[in-house]
Amino acid sequence: MYQSFIGLEIHIQLLTESKVFCGCTNRFGDEPNTNVCPVCMGYPGVLPALNEEAIRLSYIVARTLNCELSPRAIFERKNYFYPDMPKNYQISQFSSPLGRNGWIDIEYAGKPRRVRIHEIHLEEDAGKMIHAGDMSLLDYNRAGTPLLEIVTEPDMEAGEEAEILLQNFRRTIRYLGVCDGNMEEGSMRCDANVSINLEGQGLGRKVEIKNLNSSRFVKMALNYEITRQKELFGKGGKIVQETRLWNENRDVTEPMRTKESAHDYRYFPEPDLPPFIPGAEFLAKVDKGLVELPEARKARFVKEYGLSAAAADFLVAEKATADFYEQTVKLGAAPAAAAAWLQFDVRKILNRDGKELADCPLTAGRLAQLLSLLADGRIHGKIAKQVLEAVFAEDKDPGQLIKEKGWQSMSDMSQLAALVDQALAANAAAVDAVKAGDRKPLGFLVGQIMKQTGGMAEPRLVQELLKQKIK
Ligand SMILES: [Zn+2]
Repeated sequence: MYQSFIGLEIHIQLLTESKVFCGCTNRFGDEPNTNVCPVCMGYPGVLPALNEEAIRLSYIVARTLNCELSPRAIFERKNYFYPDMPKNYQISQFSSPLGRNGWIDIEYAGKPRRVRIHEIHLEEDAGKMIHAGDMSLLDYNRAGTPLLEIVTEPDMEAGEEAEILLQNFRRTIRYLGVCDGNMEEGSMRCDANVSINLEGQGLGRKVEIKNLNSSRFVKMALNYEITRQKELFGKGGKIVQETRLWNENRDVTEPMRTKESAHDYRYFPEPDLPPFIPGAEFLAKVDKGLVELPEARKARFVKEYGLSAAAADFLVAEKATADFYEQTVKLGAAPAAAAAWLQFDVRKILNRDGKELADCPLTAGRLAQLLSLLADGRIHGKIAKQVLEAVFAEDKDPGQLIKEKGWQSMSDMSQLAALVDQALAANAAAVDAVKAGDRKPLGFLVGQIMKQTGGMAEPRLVQELLKQKIK
């Protein structure tokens, strides 16, 4: 029997205003080479200065992932030449990264699993190379932007497990607001490593896989690689320690280069940056950035609001949705109703219109108002859906819309009773059929009254009155 060992190296771009060692703007999608200066372009004699926001966000991630925080984080130069790195070295961390020995808890195959974090370090990102025909273009806007690297221990066994870990991690960093987690745009990137060996014999020879720009590709590449290595092993072949690339068109991994070992980079301390020593004041700022994480929030939603696991799962997937939900409940909406409306009716409209909850005419206040009008019987269910559509279309409060459009339920008993009498008199055959035990004409009679009132009659009351009178 074989055993497989999977580890991940996850890179996330931190959402800071400026780059990590200079004042240039840190923003995706700007005109190429407009956010550059002598520091991030590596001119001789310039001095880097650490961006405190970048290191604060880094410590927030390290704390959240249960790491031991370094009391003295050291920056080192990692030396290598590549056109996207104009300095010919990258400022990174090696001997004393800011966080170590943490963990992420996930659930895989119905069981809780703990994946250990080896270390977390802060470094600067490289520029971007764009290959066009027979030339390569360079955009240095990304050079020097803050990049956080999270390295796990090889604690996972299957591609599916790595995929779950990535999804869980992505949700976490989005909750923390430190990174948008967009793997397609490259603000979150992942390299995977995998080795196999005979059971009980420890780690095998490590193969690294790059070019994985979705969590699904991570899963597919790892499972492909495990199968490839097992077959090779079975035939008595030798697994080479190497870096391979995922070919997403052919669904295979292909060799890229043999892996340099760490000393090839000739790390040495960055002489222009002192070690970072987090003081009490800084650590208090880090604590302020911690938030209730999705898993904890889900458990609380189930317990506090009596929601199903599925409903809670939906609500906590995005922090904005969970916040919106709690705000709606705080404003008086019944927890179950608010959850159901968000999960079904509201989501349907958002998907159809390609909108986000955070950026649409529906506010928590408006949803709470709509649900209270419904709960008080001032409108009935079908009209409530109409009102929701109108809120999106006209950007007005539900109460105002109902008044303007005359959508209040007709629930005045004497008014309804008169309508019921009319309907009974005009449909004697239907009445006889109901008396004889056929329930179908009852629906027909309700329909007649709804038609007459333009849908405003409260259908429940109409039905009750009909039954009473026919009896
Ligand atoms: Zn710069």
